[in-house]
Amino acid sequence: GLPVVAIVGRPNVGKSTIFNRLVGERIAIVEDKPGVTRDRLYGKGEWLNRYFHVIDTGGIEFGETDAILTQMRHQAELAIDEADVILMVTDGRAGVTDADQELARMLNRTGKPIVLIVNKIDNPDMRADIYDFYTLGLGDPFPVSGSHGLGLGDVLEEVVKHF
Ligand code: GDP
Ligand code: MG
Repeated sequence: GLPVVAIVGRPNVGKSTIFNRLVGERIAIVEDKPGVTRDRLYGKGEWLNRYFHVIDTGGIEFGETDAILTQMRHQAELAIDEADVILMVTDGRAGVTDADQELARMLNRTGKPIVLIVNKIDNPDMRADIYDFYTLGLGDPFPVSGSHGLGLGDVLEEVVKHF
């Protein structure tokens, strides 16, 4: 089948905004048993004639009582199980958070290729905000503005290298 790209990250960093930018076509919301927490939102993306599936793991509802870290662990598990490349999304306005560090540690252990996105870099003046994200140990952070559709070409160029 097509390579799978999974989008992970804590709530509100812009995962779904980026998912919507990457996919031309939504394939399905795949729902398993309630409580089993395996729902995924799939789409199909294309970059320079390379096709791939994208999973917005953040579309998953794990229940209101679950802590953010628990939800991120489930997302990471889904991504680890299914993805060929993982996009970890962070928020350049919020900076590096404890939850980002925890997720980065989990992802680092997977051995899968990870591309680190620093989202909400809406204008060039904000590019200096990405340097703190080197501390996550996931390599070069890619500045993106999901809402303005900026920076995704560089991200995709990196992603397809791992197919
Ligand atoms: P998710 O919870 O990670 O899926 O995040 P969403 O995609 O739902 O976005 C969370 C909020 O961040 C929304 O209000 C978006 O409009 C906003 N947002 C997403 N991307 C950007 C961006 O590039 N710049 C700014 N300024 N806001 C963004
Ligand atoms: Mg979302």
